Amino acid sequence: MRNWEQYVRRVVPYTPGEQPNRPGMIKLNTNENPYPPAPGVQQALRELDAGSFRLYPDPAASELIDALADYYGKEQERFFVGVGSDDVIAMAFQTFFNSEKPILFPDISYSFYSVWAELFGIPYRRPALDEKLCLVKKDYFAENGGIIFPNPNAPTGIYMELCEVEEIIARNPDSVVIVDEAYVDFAGPSAMSLVDKYDNLLVVQTFSKSRSMAGMRIGFAYGQPELIRYLNDVKYSFNSYTMNLPSLKLGTAALKDRAYFEETVGKIKATRERVKRELSALGFAFPDSGANFIFASHKSCPAKELFEALKEQNIYVRYFASPRIDNYLRITVGTDEEMDVLLKFLKSYLRE
Ligand SMILES: *Cc1c(COP(=O)(O)O)cnc(C)c1O
Repeated sequence: MRNWEQYVRRVVPYTPGEQPNRPGMIKLNTNENPYPPAPGVQQALRELDAGSFRLYPDPAASELIDALADYYGKEQERFFVGVGSDDVIAMAFQTFFNSEKPILFPDISYSFYSVWAELFGIPYRRPALDEKLCLVKKDYFAENGGIIFPNPNAPTGIYMELCEVEEIIARNPDSVVIVDEAYVDFAGPSAMSLVDKYDNLLVVQTFSKSRSMAGMRIGFAYGQPELIRYLNDVKYSFNSYTMNLPSLKLGTAALKDRAYFEETVGKIKATRERVKRELSALGFAFPDSGANFIFASHKSCPAKELFEALKEQNIYVRYFASPRIDNYLRITVGTDEEMDVLLKFLKSYLRE
């Protein structure tokens, strides 16, 4: 070992889903939206002037913050934006999770949480989901240094009712509770409505899924102004120019078109419900998903085998070789046409 190597911080990085770029592929492996962003985003892109790239972007991201405040009808001081919700959540870990006590998140959940906890040296504990893959509320009533969970959960897709989310927040007045709502637009009401009541609640959302802008990297947090101020202090101590100019402009444009947003989210939900029925008929079982993906297990064909067979067909889904979930496929809801190709192949493959 070379001498400097003893001073290297060694980490096991997060493994994102593959990003193959093959002609004709059907990409259902990273929960991207199959529809393009709102037409106003394309328009705003045309209007971008490369000359404006000469200057640093607005460190306060005011234009986007104003658009969020407008869209949700809340004050600017309650919003924080970042380079995807991954950036927002990583910043929140650094800001709020500095207790000696372990933070809590489910054993089956977004796998980035443990990566950040390791990176930042935050102790953590992962209470197990029950046999139906549901979060066990009372596990989160134990002493802790903070709490984070996605709602709907990933990769299960299960949406927890808001009254249960509220109970977890209410029972933890001494910790910050982060609700990661990457998929909430496809499910039920958001915990944003609870922020007035709880100063320890931070709700995080993203433009990557429901707003079709994964490539632009836009995420935000919503909380009481005090939490947001603390987040900004850490952000400005680290990198004040996190969001680039195109993301600020195009994210703002995306928020102007509520009708398009509702239409595409509605289409994805309708496709999801149809695919659920068809997968059931093919012998798949899955928790009832409130997200833009279905976490499915077949009664006789191993998930790993299906994953490989689908890949041969240029159809990409996600497979996790992790304990308890290694017989499931996480299938993103694409367009109706894409799902028809998938279902047609599954029908013939499972019949053989
Ligand atoms: C996709 C996802 C994110 C991250 O999204 P960004 O693209 O970084 O905004 C965060 N949490 C969960 C649970 C996700 O599925």
